[in-house]
Amino acid sequence: MIKPETVERIIDAARIEEIVGEFVSLKRRGANLLGCCPFHNEKTPSFTVSPAKGIFKCFGCGEAGNSVHFLMKHEHYSYPEALKYIAKKYSIEIEEEELSPQQIEKQTEREGLFNVSDFAQKYFSELLTENELGRNIGLAYFYERGLSDDVIKKFGLGYCLDEWENFTKHALASGYSINVLEKTGLSIVKDDGKTYDRFRGRVMFPVYSVSGRVLGFSGRILSSEKQAAKYVNSPESEIYNKSKTLYGLFQSKNSISKSDLCYLVEGNIDVITLHQCGIENVVASSGTSLTMEQIRLIHRYTKNITVLYDGDAAGIKAAMRAVNMLLEEGMSVRVVLFPEGEDPDSYARKYGAEMIKNYVEQQATNFIVFKTKLLLEETQGDPIKKAALIKDIVQTISFVPEMIERNLYVKECSALLDISEHTLATELAKCISERFKRKERNSEPQPTPISVNNNVEPNPGSGNDLPYPVESSLPDFVQSLTQQPVYANEMEERRIISLLINYGDTTIKDKVENEEGEMVEEEYYVSAYIVGDIMNDDIMFENPTYQEVFDMYKTKIYEGEVIGSSYFFTLNRPDLDNLVATMLTNTYTISEKWGDDKRRIYVPKPEDNVDKDVKEALLKLKQAKVNQKIQEVKEQLKVASDINDIMLLLNEQKNLESIRILIGKALNQIITS
Ligand SMILES: [Zn+2]
Repeated sequence: MIKPETVERIIDAARIEEIVGEFVSLKRRGANLLGCCPFHNEKTPSFTVSPAKGIFKCFGCGEAGNSVHFLMKHEHYSYPEALKYIAKKYSIEIEEEELSPQQIEKQTEREGLFNVSDFAQKYFSELLTENELGRNIGLAYFYERGLSDDVIKKFGLGYCLDEWENFTKHALASGYSINVLEKTGLSIVKDDGKTYDRFRGRVMFPVYSVSGRVLGFSGRILSSEKQAAKYVNSPESEIYNKSKTLYGLFQSKNSISKSDLCYLVEGNIDVITLHQCGIENVVASSGTSLTMEQIRLIHRYTKNITVLYDGDAAGIKAAMRAVNMLLEEGMSVRVVLFPEGEDPDSYARKYGAEMIKNYVEQQATNFIVFKTKLLLEETQGDPIKKAALIKDIVQTISFVPEMIERNLYVKECSALLDISEHTLATELAKCISERFKRKERNSEPQPTPISVNNNVEPNPGSGNDLPYPVESSLPDFVQSLTQQPVYANEMEERRIISLLINYGDTTIKDKVENEEGEMVEEEYYVSAYIVGDIMNDDIMFENPTYQEVFDMYKTKIYEGEVIGSSYFFTLNRPDLDNLVATMLTNTYTISEKWGDDKRRIYVPKPEDNVDKDVKEALLKLKQAKVNQKIQEVKEQLKVASDINDIMLLLNEQKNLESIRILIGKALNQIITS
């Protein structure tokens, strides 16, 4: 358990733009930074980071929160893991309270898997440099491949002894359970209960997450044993998902972002050799064929990708497969093919760092041009083959999302293939519309948009007389606020909560009557003022989350404390983080698009109007609640049959109407003041 004081220090120290910037390429936009959202698939950036407020907010999918929330969501960290990550980054010493045995047990399985993987990496790298066999076999192998100590360290390379249960025994003796060892795949448990090491007598390549945690291993055999597989890899586990991992991304991400270019290679060793040669913007899909998730990982840092492939038939085939996916994701793709029989690693070792740098730069060809030329060679004038080739190329071009780019490719290929642009363009249009139709057929029926009332068609333009618009196109983040249909008084309630969060710890002035009956001006904290006023009228929030936030302010005020919005970020409540961050960001972004009167989405006023704003918001909330009550009474009157009930209801209606008039007057005063 991390002590609360330390938690506070850590959260204060976290610079949101630095934390998020580790994973998302951000560009400055005024006071904020903007990037492409890592939580949903988007091509136009709508992911906003506010350094001043310490929060991020995506206006596409609604995800929002502070640094801790970001790490939990993005890296799937637990709360303490996220705090520890930040503490390490900002060199904050963590004071932990002793864990009880129950708490230790409660530590998540994920943490256990991370810990044992980290332990294994350290052990293997120690064997590589400290153990005689490790030095003579493993280290000698790396040196022979031209790797320096720095690069060996950078990639955490290691060696495991050629014994049946050397590692398992060592890990068990160090307190790790056979359960976690088995789950990471480091140890294998046989039916008879005997255990042995998965990796034996191999050089070890740890696989890191984007943030640098060890997820699994790849082990390469050095002996020439015929039956042994050249590579043995960790199996998938709770923490290791191969289709979402790219080898080398952790070590390369800064360079990829800086150079705005990513090289994609096939093997782990290619990544390391290229780093050794000074090419540090390189990743490998290592073992799996490239997945959409991996492409999106790269896309966070750059849209430019150059695929480096072996010059053999298999290499070319792999390149072809990957490229349609890359194009579809909107990446700009170039290709470098190595001479037959060479891969980046062998080429670099044969010709050296300078040569490979030049080779990669000079050979990089636009993919579609590359593919056309390659296939054209194969057709050798055969018209049937050529027709198939045209279909193939057009198919590939159709994956390019941008029309302008597509047209450029049509032009280029028309020249290469000696076919009119018109013919290609027609073929292309056919291809795109076919795929579009296929997609439509496959797509699920769209969920009904949010509606205020189940009896009402969700159609905004139908002249409905509901007090709130039935928006079929409300932005997602409004829906994500409540996770339930927007109800009648949502806007008014939200406005109050927004004022609490944005200005709760600032003060406003109001005139009150003192004991002598004179009107005097008093200063109040906004939160105290709002809480007092709402408690006075016994108003409850319909949205349970709003009510919860309100109750937190209430409790604190009764305890004589005034809290600011940062308080919520210390609670480890991702749902509240999200809400609070949304409220904080709404002040500067919704207004542009959604602030007009028709849509009635609340836009907080500039800070100098807080006084007026608070009073107006409170009255508006009361007005809404009174209107709602009147409506309820009217409904009851429609079905009431007992004369006494009817009298009571009519009386209540009259009272409510007079309150409504009072509120209306007060509102008028404020608005015209
Ligand atoms: Zn998003």
